[in-house]
Amino acid sequence: MAYQLSASKLQTYHRCPQSYYFRYELGLKSAAFFGSAALGTALHQALAQIYQDWSYTEPLPKIDWIRYCWHQHSGSLSPPQTAEGEEILENYYHKFIADEPALRRPLAVEGKIKGRLQVANLEFAISGRYDRIDYLESGLELIDYKSTKEVKLPLPDEIDLQIGLYYLALEQRYKQSLQQMSLLYLRTGEKFSFDATPKHKQLVESTIGELAFKLRTDELWSATPGEHCSSCTYSRYCAAIQEHPEPLPENAKPPRRMQLSLNL
Ligand code: SF4
Repeated sequence: MAYQLSASKLQTYHRCPQSYYFRYELGLKSAAFFGSAALGTALHQALAQIYQDWSYTEPLPKIDWIRYCWHQHSGSLSPPQTAEGEEILENYYHKFIADEPALRRPLAVEGKIKGRLQVANLEFAISGRYDRIDYLESGLELIDYKSTKEVKLPLPDEIDLQIGLYYLALEQRYKQSLQQMSLLYLRTGEKFSFDATPKHKQLVESTIGELAFKLRTDELWSATPGEHCSSCTYSRYCAAIQEHPEPLPENAKPPRRMQLSLNL
């Protein structure tokens, strides 16, 4: 069975191999999943419909199309959330659609991209979600909508890993190169684009290579303390920052022996 990898798993590993080990190898729950994402989910669904269901027989939709799509997905929201979402999408329309000559038909919306990679005799299944994939002149643009209240860009290393993983997966799936990845913050209407190059793919391959080595050899998952420790769910168990770390909870999974379970 292939070992499952995603951009967020790789980013966790890159930040601190020990926190990766706690989370993904021992299965300790992270507190990072919080809050109601209902408004964000509805915005993502409405945007998917705006691009997917538009007839493309006319060049540009009117704002009524945006409102129609929003009302298809906002039924379970509170009245203030519904109003807020509508305003966000109207702003999106004026900023990213209204002045264009035509709405560009994307290659795909709201989906999951998968790929495979063989490293050190271990097979990795890589996957990632995308909100939209557009055609650019000489490649593809992957667009990731963000519905957070504040613009908080990931660290450059984390962006590079995310780009590299999508580069690899898109190349395998569509035989086309990722040219650009864009993070589009819906609440502020800001779009941040990052160029993608084969170097990003190489970075991911070498990071997965390191991970494969650890999985194969049971090498120590070293702790790399830093600013990120302040938001680490596992800090109480961490000998790198606690003089007397707590013992791991009883529900921690026993460390797996990859040598036995993977295709060697
Ligand atoms: S507290 Fe810091 S060093 Fe320890 S596991 Fe978490 S991120 Fe790693």
